[in-house]
Order: sequence, then structure tokens, then C-alpha cells
Amino acid sequence: SGEELIKISEERIYVSVRLRPLNSKEILRNDVSDWECINDKTVVYKNATLSVSERSMYPSAYTFDRVFRSGCSTREVYEKGAKDVAISVVSGMNASVFAYGQTSSGKTYTMTGITEYAIADIYEYIQKHPEREFVLKFSAMEIYNESVRDLLSVDSTPLRLLDDPERGTIVEKLTEETLRDWDHVIQLLSVCEAQRQNGETSLNEMSSRSHQIIRLTIESSSREFLGRDRSILAAAVNFVDLAGSERASQSLSAGTRLKEGCHINRSLLTLGTVIRKLSKGRNGHIPYRDSKLTRILQTSLGGNARTAIICTMSPARTHVEQSRNTLLFASCAK
Ligand code: ADP
Ligand code: MG
Repeated sequence: SGEELIKISEERIYVSVRLRPLNSKEILRNDVSDWECINDKTVVYKNATLSVSERSMYPSAYTFDRVFRSGCSTREVYEKGAKDVAISVVSGMNASVFAYGQTSSGKTYTMTGITEYAIADIYEYIQKHPEREFVLKFSAMEIYNESVRDLLSVDSTPLRLLDDPERGTIVEKLTEETLRDWDHVIQLLSVCEAQRQNGETSLNEMSSRSHQIIRLTIESSSREFLGRDRSILAAAVNFVDLAGSERASQSLSAGTRLKEGCHINRSLLTLGTVIRKLSKGRNGHIPYRDSKLTRILQTSLGGNARTAIICTMSPARTHVEQSRNTLLFASCAK
């Protein structure tokens, strides 16, 4: 039943933080890990070389719905940080799961696993409910410089967004594959991955600046009901691998030169504003329309939608600035 699935439903936005292990590059330059999860909700910064005044400039402990220590598996991150939100889609709820963090902090690593686990669980749920008929549709897109591209098509012509009075914002001509079976899922996921790497700019540059959305739409109806208005439940879950958060934080320090103005990512900034406003309550204007990402996700963010954000971060001392920005974002989303 729906009830047993949605354990974290009261929290509109479920925010967790995942520390990755130090990587080989960080280890080679004798970087050290300064962040530690002291329980399953709190991460602390402890750098013994800081003076008392330096230490007092920032909070040293940050608390979220959940924190995941480095070395913890993506399976666990999924189970505790995303599963309930993702599979609430089977009971007709729109949902979004985001990975937010600086480039190389583990967004893609985390989101790739979560997407697979979630779709597998959705399949399992469907198999356990033969009394209902389900139709699953898969689509995938990338937003790069406020231009939307279909990741299931070799044609890279930018797609237009249209406003539908009933369905909200629609991505025109976006490929929607009706899923046949699990092999089909795996095949489509690998098409997306290959397409994402086809950018003209170098892979790193591209993936740090673009957002990827994998969307699963589920329609379900009762098989038994023979009347005319057989009620159909339709909902979508979005798995969103965001651009590197350094694209937003550059503009946070207003004093810095804006020579890299084009690097500031409108979709990422707007998402931050939308999430901050949603987390404060639904009153007032929410600027969904200010970016492509938030327009596309509007029906999966506000209203009765469920949202989970997994903020990924490096534990390295050299990344402390970006890590703090990430935790600041995470705190504002709460
Ligand atoms: P991002 O998408 O944020 O730029 P990636 O997911 O590509 O970062 O991760 C960067 C590198 O670190 C990859 O080689 C990835 O395999 C590795 N990595 C990320 N997170 C973890 C983790 N939790 N455990 C082990 N390796 C990780
Ligand atoms: Mg990535």
C-alpha cells in the first residue's frame, strides 16, 4: 500500500549529505580529510590548524535529515536518502531526486546508482501488484547553457518548452520510450551516458556545466474496473544530476570579479532560490519560470511533490570553501 512506501512524506524536502573518500589526486598531494560524520545526522568540520578566531567564523557542526560517511555504499544512500521519495511515484505522487555538489564530489557516481536502484524497486512493486496495469515511460534530457537536448536522440537540436494548460511545461519533441523490461532500462541508461559524453567540449567541462534529468513517468489503472471512467494515476519521478555547484557559488561572493560571468549557471541559481522559497513555506512568488530546469521540474517540485536532495562533498581540506557552500545550500533547503 502507499502508506508503507512513503515514510518520509512529512518532510517536503528531504536533505542529506554524502561525504566521498579522499581520491587518489587528493592523497597524492597530501591533502587531509577534515570532515567527519559524528552520528547519522551531523557532520562536523575539525581542522586543528585553525586559530580560535578562524574557527569561530563558521559553524563546525551541520545537521541534516541524514549524513553519509565516506565509504558508505550508494545502496545505503539510496535506501535512506532517496528511496521513499523516488518510489512514491507509484502512488501517483510527482517526485524529484537531486545530486548537488561541486565537480568531482560524487554527483554522477551517486545519481547513477540511485536511478538504477529506484527503477528496479519500481519494477518490483509493479510485479507485486498484478491487479493494476502500469505503463512506464522513460525520457532523458540535458540542459546546457539554458538549452535543452534530448539524450535519447542523436539529433542535438535544442528542444523548445511549451506551456500546456493541463500538464504544465512540456518539452516539445522529447523522445519518450515505453519501457518493455529491465534490459530496456539498462540499454536506455547507457544510451544517455554515451550521449552525455558526446559534447564538443571536453567531458569534464561539459558535465560540470550541464544538468541531466532522467524522467520516469508512470501511468497506472485498475485492471478490474470495467466502467468508462477507469481512473488513471499518472506521475513522474525525476533523477537530476546537477551542474557543479561552483557554477552557482561564484556569484555568492559578490566581491569577486565576474569575468567568468558565462560560467554562472542560471538554472542552478534559480533552483537554489526555488528550493529555499519552497522550504520556507509555499507563500509568495516562486520563480519557477526564471530557468529551463525549474520550468521543466515545476510540477515535480511544488504542490504535492516529494523532493530529496543529496549533497555530495569531498572531505579534503583544500575543498573546504566549496564544501561549506554546499552545506550552506543544504541548510537553506531544510
Ligand atoms: P561529479 O559528478 O560530482 O563531478 P563523480 O561522480 O564523477 O563527480 O565522481 C568523481 C570521481 O570520484 C569518480 O571517479 C567517481 O568514481 C569517484 N567517486 C565519487 N564518489 C565516490 C564514492 N562515494 N566512493 C568512491 N568513489 C567515488
Ligand atoms: Mg558528474
